[in-house]
Amino acid sequence: MRWEGGRRSSNVEDRRGMTSRPAFVGGGLGTIVLVLVALYFGVDPSFLLQNAPVGGAQQESGPPLGADGQPDPAADFISVVLADTEDTWTAIFAEGGQRYRAPNLVLFSGNVQSACGFAQSAMGPFYCPADQKAYIDLSFYQDLRDRFQAPGDFAQAYVLAHEVGHHVQNLLGLSAKVQQARRQASEAEGNALSVRLELQADCLAGIWAHHADRSRQILETGDIDEALAAASAIGDDRLQQQSQGYVTPDSFTHGSAEQRVRWFKRGLASGQLEACDTFGVESL
Ligand SMILES: [Zn+2]
Repeated sequence: MRWEGGRRSSNVEDRRGMTSRPAFVGGGLGTIVLVLVALYFGVDPSFLLQNAPVGGAQQESGPPLGADGQPDPAADFISVVLADTEDTWTAIFAEGGQRYRAPNLVLFSGNVQSACGFAQSAMGPFYCPADQKAYIDLSFYQDLRDRFQAPGDFAQAYVLAHEVGHHVQNLLGLSAKVQQARRQASEAEGNALSVRLELQADCLAGIWAHHADRSRQILETGDIDEALAAASAIGDDRLQQQSQGYVTPDSFTHGSAEQRVRWFKRGLASGQLEACDTFGVESL
């Protein structure tokens, strides 16, 4: 991915090296087990930690630098990708006569307090609709490379673009609708809704890649394959097979590897929001 000359976002909050403690351990064992099981990236913890209180968030802003004040390539890269999603979605929203309010990106290490509750790195990157922030422990990218065999800078960009996709869903009012529908749904129905929401975020990540490349020619040979490898590696079927040795489709919350790849590609090919109507199609 050609990113070095890109604009850096001013919406990065660097909370690495800060210690967070859960303000309150809510939900008991069930919550803890869910959080531990939630190795999937992109789990929206508001579904898991709905009862956890809003903690006093520590904040620090400024350009991403390492703990020693030296330049920090990983944080620098993610800041450029975030800025690119800002430019892309600002333009798409403007076409529809809307103003895009960019999300903040919180970098953390180990664990973090969000408005959706206390979260640990093991949960993977996530987006919290309540504070409109995406959260990433950059060590996830080592996991992506080593554990999920999905290396490459564009794989990393896709992960952030997926979280920003959740922010777009939030701005469009979709997250709230799905959350409300889930309250009256059975567990299997709720999971099916979650899959549609997640696949849509993958499709929105594809829309970002489509426009970013058209306006700024960011893609290099192999980049799309990197994103597809990541989307596929973190499909529910792959993760379940890896962690428990078998696959239970009713419990999918993000979609299968094949579905994640298909929806990312749809967004990438068309660049249009209409291509991402995962709620309007019968079969995913
Ligand atoms: Zn997600």
